[in-house]
Amino acid sequence: VPATDVEDVGLIDHHCHGVVRGDLDREGLEGLITESHDSPPPGMTYFDGPLGLAFRRWCAPILDLEPLVGVETYVARRRELGAEEVSKRFFKEAGLAELLIDTGYRGEELHDIDGMAALAGVPVREIVRLEAVAERVASSGVDAGRYADAFADALGAAADDAVGFKTIAAYRGGFAFDPERPSPRAVAAAAGRFLEEAATGAARIRDPVLIRHGIWTAADLASDGRMPIQFHTGWGDPDLVLHLTNPSLLTELIRKLDRMDVNITLLHCYPFHRDAAYLSAMYANVYFDVGSALHYHGPSAGQLLAEAMEVAPFTKLLFSTDAFGLPEQYYLGSILFRRALKGVLDRWIAAGDSDEREAGRIAGLIGRENALRIYPLDPTG
Ligand SMILES: [Zn+2]
Repeated sequence: VPATDVEDVGLIDHHCHGVVRGDLDREGLEGLITESHDSPPPGMTYFDGPLGLAFRRWCAPILDLEPLVGVETYVARRRELGAEEVSKRFFKEAGLAELLIDTGYRGEELHDIDGMAALAGVPVREIVRLEAVAERVASSGVDAGRYADAFADALGAAADDAVGFKTIAAYRGGFAFDPERPSPRAVAAAAGRFLEEAATGAARIRDPVLIRHGIWTAADLASDGRMPIQFHTGWGDPDLVLHLTNPSLLTELIRKLDRMDVNITLLHCYPFHRDAAYLSAMYANVYFDVGSALHYHGPSAGQLLAEAMEVAPFTKLLFSTDAFGLPEQYYLGSILFRRALKGVLDRWIAAGDSDEREAGRIAGLIGRENALRIYPLDPTG
């Protein structure tokens, strides 16, 4: 068996979002290289950080600019080429084989599944966000006693065209919730309150009973290894309380889902990537990635990935970019991952812990094969 080079793995990006439609000015661009909702304080810029540095260093040459060029020059060149050409260049260089896109957040600003397939030139599949479906059902004006059935129907229909579910429980109270399946009576009572709120305007699901109900309804559809449920974990925007997103809080739920053969994938995970790695080593149904953290780490991406790989089985780590809005993030997610993984594996080879052939096999598992095993994807696609 010939060695697989990290560069040659057709990466399956199991968690990402659409690219914004249209051109961006400096403010628009800068707003998408931070998870903060705040504007940079006067005299400061979000480009002065690990992601900003990686952005200027690695993305500029793809637009025919010198590495580390000034931000104004970069923005001007971006507008000169136009959003579509910029996207196509970055996707070409990223070398991604397939994208699994979470369509449940700010979808109106972003290219949809078909638009993304056209830009990226590779197969694009959908991940269904549980809370977005619940909010859609609530806005449709169903009554509280019918909510559970209406939600199950809507989720089942959405799942027909999708390859996985995602929950943002992390953003709606965190993981310290009761792991039991909620009773029908508790769901109807919570739905009554949720629907009352929905009738006054935008529905925002946050009742832990309904969040749990969403996860359990998805578990029924995902059981027997049919498709995974993704959990946003750790690193995110200021709407979450970080310590409540430690995946260790999910342990009892993980055990219950393991008995139903429901795979779960912990997304991002930083700074709990070691906790996630431990859980993936203990429970057959737990997978994880350090996507998004990789590009936000910029020059430290190698250190992050090395920590994620300390104890994780090679069969349990996944690749994602968590790109949101900017095509540059797909590219950065890809090259920072490839450089980081190559760095780790080269050190193992140099120390005599591995050889080229084993390293290539490990790269293939993490970059591609693990996703093919747990998502209902076409392995030839
Ligand atoms: Zn994401």
